Amino acid sequence: MIAEALLQLRNEIPEGVTLVAVSKTKPVSAILEAYQAGQRIFGENKVQELCEKHEQLPTDIEWHLIGHLQSNKVKYIAPFVSLIHAVDSLKLLGEINKQALKNNRVISCLLQFHIAQEDTKFGLSLDEAIELIQSETFRSFQNIRITGVMGMATFTDNTEQIREEFRTLRHIFDELKARFFSNHTDFSIRSMGMSGDYREAIEEGSTLIRVGSSIFGERNYP
Ligand SMILES: *Cc1c(COP(=O)(O)O)cnc(C)c1O
Repeated sequence: MIAEALLQLRNEIPEGVTLVAVSKTKPVSAILEAYQAGQRIFGENKVQELCEKHEQLPTDIEWHLIGHLQSNKVKYIAPFVSLIHAVDSLKLLGEINKQALKNNRVISCLLQFHIAQEDTKFGLSLDEAIELIQSETFRSFQNIRITGVMGMATFTDNTEQIREEFRTLRHIFDELKARFFSNHTDFSIRSMGMSGDYREAIEEGSTLIRVGSSIFGERNYP
């Protein structure tokens, strides 16, 4: 049961950790069930699915895009998205800035870091992020706000490895905070942890977990 799973999860996670319910592939009815149990933040990884669900569901839901985003699709989510998790290039940030401006908004974004051993996962290195943040182009952006970092650990049973990867993200956050964002109270989010590893993530300093299957059940991909 979705409501029960949510309640259990909420009881388990400490204050100061935000729960994003990852509803990708799940029907609107499932999201409504979570909504009725009090959940207001939902995450999707595909732009089209996000837009369709946004249109059909209550307007006080905060929608997060958690998956990889292509520049040419930013325009579809710019009017309403509340947080974009997986930003990993200056080009993408430029497009988000442009579309945010068109919508008279400031859009919050997380920088995604490559912390896993798998090479299939997107994300920046610390050096790349520093270069990005120091660029003139980045400094000219008025309609984006970098509110923290996001990362995905390797899909493995080795919890020590997972912890090490989350620790890496924690250090990246601390370094960026100290060097570039010390006066920005908004720069506060460490988005790490999914169904399989949110406990480790929280212990390693996560402030926001993205949990799907533990709430909604396993996903059936066609
Ligand atoms: C699907 C997904 C999740 C949630 O995964 P679960 O294992 O179902 O909790 C979290 N983050 C991202 C980026 C995802 O794509």
